[in-house]
Amino acid sequence: MGHHECNANEIFEGQVHLYKHLHDHAVDGMSIKWMIELGIPDIMHNHDQPITLIELVSILQIPQTKVRGVKSLLRYLAHNGFLQIVRVHHNTEEKEAYALSAASQLLVKGTDLSLAPMVELLIKPNAAHVWSHLKKWTYEDGVTLFDVSLGSNMWEFLSKKPKFNESFNEAMACDSQMMNVALRGCNWVFEGMESIVDVGGGTGTTAKAVCDAFTNVKCTVFDQPHVVEKLSGTNNLTYVGGDMFKSIPKADVVLLKLILHDWNDKDCKKILENCKEAISGKGKRGKVILIETVINEDQDEHELTGLKLAMDVRMTCFLNGKERSEEEWKKMFVEAGFQNYKISPLTGYLSLIQIYP
Ligand code: SAH
Repeated sequence: MGHHECNANEIFEGQVHLYKHLHDHAVDGMSIKWMIELGIPDIMHNHDQPITLIELVSILQIPQTKVRGVKSLLRYLAHNGFLQIVRVHHNTEEKEAYALSAASQLLVKGTDLSLAPMVELLIKPNAAHVWSHLKKWTYEDGVTLFDVSLGSNMWEFLSKKPKFNESFNEAMACDSQMMNVALRGCNWVFEGMESIVDVGGGTGTTAKAVCDAFTNVKCTVFDQPHVVEKLSGTNNLTYVGGDMFKSIPKADVVLLKLILHDWNDKDCKKILENCKEAISGKGKRGKVILIETVINEDQDEHELTGLKLAMDVRMTCFLNGKERSEEEWKKMFVEAGFQNYKISPLTGYLSLIQIYP
């Protein structure tokens, strides 16, 4: 069927849809990064009330010829929910002013819940270079997009590039800061346990949140030696370097946050078997807790599913990993020899999955 047989409206809508995504592609990420680079969330955060364009460009010392450009970016950010446009009264005049939204509140630097490091990691100039190898990746048996574009797998690459490694760890750490909020409602999950090992726990942010929320618990952060070697613990927090494919330190509870989505089913089975070994002999107390996404297109909002599917593409291409549905998780737990599991909501995009031997 040729295009001339299609309804004109459908053709035009198709064009709008295509153009929207093509233009978004460059502008969405860069406008967020631009906002951070200029320190706009910080300025707005420190301003007692919504800020007008005139006030903002004056603080930023923007040349006159670029004021209209700044306004353009701010309007786009507001359209995407990264700013709020409000009306304020200046003497008798009514003016437009900008305020932070729930999303851009998270871009204020130096706050407990700042996600600015995640922007730093995900909006890197060379990301375009990596993604440009997608076709080549499709035809190369087994290897990841990292192998194809940068010549080594992601974990190797990170271990050889201290700067990138630091950026990665900081981004993961800021995601884990959310655990301070998320764990507030989780007493029932951690009740009665004395020790926990956070496998792939990075620089220890999640473990610290657990220690703060449950002061009787001894936490071990277990990660690759180059991630933990320079870190020192406290009374109830210990860092241990090692390889989760070899063995995992013993504890009542093994926690894995955003680990299994990095790996294929076969690797996950091996990791989970090692987790099972780590909690063996703990009786009723022993369990494994995953903090991961669960793809659920029927129940999730369209935007949330979009996030999970985009993460799935990233995990698939970068690592041979994936995001999983409940059915896929269940199958994996059974194959690794677990008897039972329970999924509970945790944050906007993460679920808490308890699995029992
Ligand atoms: N759980 C953290 C970090 C997740 S990123 C968080 O959610 O913030 C994945 C982590 O797995 C990284 O810190 C990486 O160093 C670690 N990792 C990768 N391979 C590993 C291995 N073989 N043994 C132990 N940890 C590993």
